[in-house]
Amino acid sequence: GITAGYHRYFAHGSYRTSRPFQFALAVLGASAWQKGPLWWASHHAEHHLHSDSAGDPHSPVCGSLLWAHMGWFWACMEYDAHPAAFQAGRGRVARFRQYPELVALDRFHHGPGIALGALAYAADGLPGLLWGFIVPTVGVWHATFAVNSACHRWGSRRFATTDNSRNNVWVALAAFGEGNHNNHHAFPWSARHGLTWREPDLSYAILRALELLGVVWDLRLPT
Ligand SMILES: [Zn+2]
Ligand SMILES: [Zn+2]
Repeated sequence: GITAGYHRYFAHGSYRTSRPFQFALAVLGASAWQKGPLWWASHHAEHHLHSDSAGDPHSPVCGSLLWAHMGWFWACMEYDAHPAAFQAGRGRVARFRQYPELVALDRFHHGPGIALGALAYAADGLPGLLWGFIVPTVGVWHATFAVNSACHRWGSRRFATTDNSRNNVWVALAAFGEGNHNNHHAFPWSARHGLTWREPDLSYAILRALELLGVVWDLRLPT
């Protein structure tokens, strides 16, 4: 939901899909409790626009590692609102405002997370809530946040991008391919982030399977 949905689809448009599956991706992403799809994607667009310079919401080069990891997300009210560009209707993410179901989900983004927590509790009481919801949710937070912090600090650089992005195999394993972050800054529109067998990318494997099933199409790839 977060990597293939919020990130590669809503923020970067790296493939196409149907309106129902677009909504399914948004619901899946929202169940990870990282705010709404349009909020997430529009702030991420600002990150690519201003990577590691003034205007980047979460740079460990301009700010501290802790700020980039979770300070901007949890502790700073400045980023509670959508970015000004999105509010003004600019940028590719703003075009999703034409879908009322996405706008509603973006507003009531806690819904899928609460439903998932309730399901985990119904299945096995408090242990179900702990191991079926709280622990995995916190795990997915830190995997996602590590892309913003660790992958702009530690790892290798295959491409001479203008930012400090890095390929970090540990984050790539934890975050389904997102740790191939220098590749991603070099080709932000690419559905594939791991470009060789040394660069694990589970999300791309899932997208390829969904492409074979006809659920998604027009995956964009670097030549
Ligand atoms: Zn980045
Ligand atoms: Zn991105």
